Amino acid sequence: MVTAVVEGVEVDTRHWIAGRRVASGSTFTDISPIDETPLAEVSSAGPAEVDAAVAAARAAFPSWASWSREERAAVLHRVADGVERRAEELSAVETRDNGALLRSHRRGVMPRAATNFRFFADHLLTLDRSAPDIDGHRQRVTHDPAGVAAVITPWNAPLMLATWRIAPALAAGNTVVAKPPEWAPLTASLLADITADAGLPAGVLNIVQGTGEEAGAPLSAHPGINRMSFTGSVPTAGRVAAAAAPNIVPLSFELGGKSPLVVFADADFDLAVALAVEQFDNSGQVCLGAFRILVEDRVASGFVDAVVDRASQLVQGDPREETTDMSCLVSRRHFERVDGFVRRARAAGASAILGGGPNHDVGHLFYRPTILAGAEPGAEILTEEVFGPVLTVQTFESEDQAVAMANDTRFGLAATLVTGDPERAERVSALISAGTVWVNCFFVRDLGAPFGGNGHSGIGREGGGWSFDFHCDVKNTVFAPTGWRDSG
Ligand code: NAD
Repeated sequence: MVTAVVEGVEVDTRHWIAGRRVASGSTFTDISPIDETPLAEVSSAGPAEVDAAVAAARAAFPSWASWSREERAAVLHRVADGVERRAEELSAVETRDNGALLRSHRRGVMPRAATNFRFFADHLLTLDRSAPDIDGHRQRVTHDPAGVAAVITPWNAPLMLATWRIAPALAAGNTVVAKPPEWAPLTASLLADITADAGLPAGVLNIVQGTGEEAGAPLSAHPGINRMSFTGSVPTAGRVAAAAAPNIVPLSFELGGKSPLVVFADADFDLAVALAVEQFDNSGQVCLGAFRILVEDRVASGFVDAVVDRASQLVQGDPREETTDMSCLVSRRHFERVDGFVRRARAAGASAILGGGPNHDVGHLFYRPTILAGAEPGAEILTEEVFGPVLTVQTFESEDQAVAMANDTRFGLAATLVTGDPERAERVSALISAGTVWVNCFFVRDLGAPFGGNGHSGIGREGGGWSFDFHCDVKNTVFAPTGWRDSG
């Protein structure tokens, strides 16, 4: 079978290489986490398909790189139009594939996938910079396309995360080989159709489906790639970096987190409670999630009671229902991983003040919103990324202690502070080590702002000009002031 019909939408499950559908001899089964039914048999790439995709991208590069910026921007806007036109279908397929809420896909995720193309198309037209003259010599700084970008992405927001990486690469004039996540591969296949309809030339975007080990590993190690753009977990990032190292390929890594939500006694109480409960969105499968609640001890008891009360009212159920607040986890393997963290934390002395286990009343892969208290400093549950609906609570007595606890992590993706004191907001946000710090808000994202993580949360920044700096060979050309030397 080369096509599957998912929620009434036909999806071609073969690779997309050089503008054609290409099947592999072997396939993998894509399973919906909502009810664990098989959705599709998807072509499974190995080194041969990866070679073919990189060759196609290399062949398409010179022509694509020579298109004017206006021409590239125009085709990327048409891709965005196509995403918008098919947003309903993309939302329905993505929901069935990764189990996240249909209403989030409709209202947030798919509009953002379209915006990814529009934003980088527009930003492309503002790129040129000039450097100051030096001793009368004119300096010209240009952004030359680098070549073939490999893009490897995860399943928690598959199309949004893939397009966040693909769009700047294409805008920069690079060609792309993308490897979507094997737990939610389908919308990438629809994206291939959308780009073809928009007039993106054959070979400019190539998509190889498959597992990390079989398709991702040969792509990371491929000598034909010029940029490695990876979003995923820290252990995989280590393998990708090691594979890419012999080829001296620049890396952009957006990885995991263990971000804090720091609540001071002077905070707007209702806002702080709402921000804490928001961390259960997408069943906690959010890299930026603030899963470590750090609360000032004199307000801790009332605050925690209110969070437990509000979180216990979250409606768990089918993600296609408008009334559902929390859905399932993405796969059985991930479900067991999340449950393992909670079991070990409880065995080590933490207590579940909310949830603490599966919700089999709803389905096999549904996990209750869980809040754990009493974990010992340094415990696994306080230091490792769970990537599920599991918050921990710790208390602090002073601002200094709050900062120390917030920074007591090898990650540094994000942090959220809730305080009513503007001076404290300035002080504490300056001392926190994280790529993004939100003060009295959460998840406010501007595509022109730098995005990335410190420490084990990543390498580099993307967004706005940072993305073009990564995807381009930035060149400085220095012109002498005196004209051309007489060659005679
Ligand atoms: P993962 O690292 O297991 O997989 C990510 C991707 O890498 C998948 O496409 C997978 O097939 C591929 N892969 C696996 N092994 C590979 C290998 N040896 N070589 C090349 N590719 C390989 O991560 P996941 O479980 O899919 O995603 C969850 C992780 O992603 C979490 O850590 C989360 O925090 C992180 N994440 C980060 C951001 C961010 O922007 N910082 C955004 C979303 C998710």
